[in-house]
Amino acid sequence: MSQVITRFPPSPTGHLHLGGARTALFNWLFARRHRGKFILRFEDTDRERSKPEYVNSIMEALKWLGLNWDEGPYFQSERLHIYHNFAHKLWEEGKAYYCECSKELLEEKKKKRLEMGLKPGYDQTCRSKNLGPKEGRVLRLKVPEIGDIVVEDLLRGKIIFSADEIDDFILLRSDGTPTYHFAVVVDDIEMKITHVIRGDDHLSNTPKQILIYKSLGVNPPYFAHIPMVLGPDGARLSKRHGARSVLEYREEGYLPFALINYLARLGWGYGDEEYFSVKDLIEKFSLEKINLAPARFDPDKLLAVNAYWIKNTSSDLLLKYLQPFLKNYSVSSFPEEYLISAIDTVKPRTKTLKEMVDMLHFYLVEEIDYEENSAQKYLTKTVLPCLEKFLLDLKNLPLEDHKLESYFKDLTQTFGIKLKDLAQAIRVSLTGRSVSPGLFEIIRILGKERVERRLKKALEFIKNL
Ligand code: GLU
Repeated sequence: MSQVITRFPPSPTGHLHLGGARTALFNWLFARRHRGKFILRFEDTDRERSKPEYVNSIMEALKWLGLNWDEGPYFQSERLHIYHNFAHKLWEEGKAYYCECSKELLEEKKKKRLEMGLKPGYDQTCRSKNLGPKEGRVLRLKVPEIGDIVVEDLLRGKIIFSADEIDDFILLRSDGTPTYHFAVVVDDIEMKITHVIRGDDHLSNTPKQILIYKSLGVNPPYFAHIPMVLGPDGARLSKRHGARSVLEYREEGYLPFALINYLARLGWGYGDEEYFSVKDLIEKFSLEKINLAPARFDPDKLLAVNAYWIKNTSSDLLLKYLQPFLKNYSVSSFPEEYLISAIDTVKPRTKTLKEMVDMLHFYLVEEIDYEENSAQKYLTKTVLPCLEKFLLDLKNLPLEDHKLESYFKDLTQTFGIKLKDLAQAIRVSLTGRSVSPGLFEIIRILGKERVERRLKKALEFIKNL
């Protein structure tokens, strides 16, 4: 096989959503798997709906996901001369013709044909008129009236369409812009695309595109039409299902490689394995393992995959991904080892980076606030003497788990209170909350100085009750 070249050709009329990201991912993985090329191309001939901010946000999303492209971005709007050259060639060779039928006339004809029980397609009025290019005229492909058009799909095998289902469709609009079918074929030829991997909502477009390839005398690329992504209720995935743009998942605290893992599993599988690093995916990805049943998006599963990757990623890498979420803290005032140890304690219990920052809060501020209920419940006069003694002993206390454990046991026995009550009182004193990572590790990481300061504050609080 010659070098594999795939492409991702979004229309910049919206942000990158999960379905589009999965299409990009499959194309990227296939290219990487075969040491080929992955091209980014913006299909922006719809000047009204295409917006530069979408171009930027799509590129940002791809970059964040790590789906780097080897060529491009190309913009169809900058390639009009290329489409015109191809169009001219087809016209000169008699494979396409200009048509002067007005929109109104076409509407009228369509209505009449439908009334007569005929297919609504163009009736070929201008096919034999030999019209030349002129403003206001469209260019149509001369579609053969009979015969089969065979789409060889890598996932589904041969799919046969009948040519008489297809009318002489438009290649160039009256304003000179190419239609989607024409631009996509010309670009795929020019960019030497070998594999077109796209959603199966495009399957019905493929026969038209094959006809254009034939007229241009070029072999079509391989096609793989992948099943759509559906929402949990089986309807086409939309915002209603909480499927937002890729960048919103970044804001929510998802790791890019967790999203990649999840998206890859959405319609592709490798035995029973659930978790794949990007490297694994590149090694294992193949089109044959794509499932032909539509994939269902499951936000809970995505969250679980994110939690898995948070738990299984080194804390120094997590720290890097956490940076944008730490803007409200003066993180630079803490040594890196401190932050990393702090992350170690919260990562087994967080599902998103956003949640993680919330759990890290008490590590990152000098002054903590108490949750009202927790303070009321646990910072009581009963524990006061016990806390006072702890404060007194702190300086000389060894901080290993087992030593702290026996120290606290002795302490509660001496003062006749429950271990749980003491532990919760210390937890609230140190973190402000009644739920936190393990107490001993918190004490060690915060360090004696901070612990002392927070204990003093708690004692003050209790005394003022
Ligand atoms: N611009 C088209 C889309 O976003 C590309 C389809 C194709 O891959 O040919 O759906």
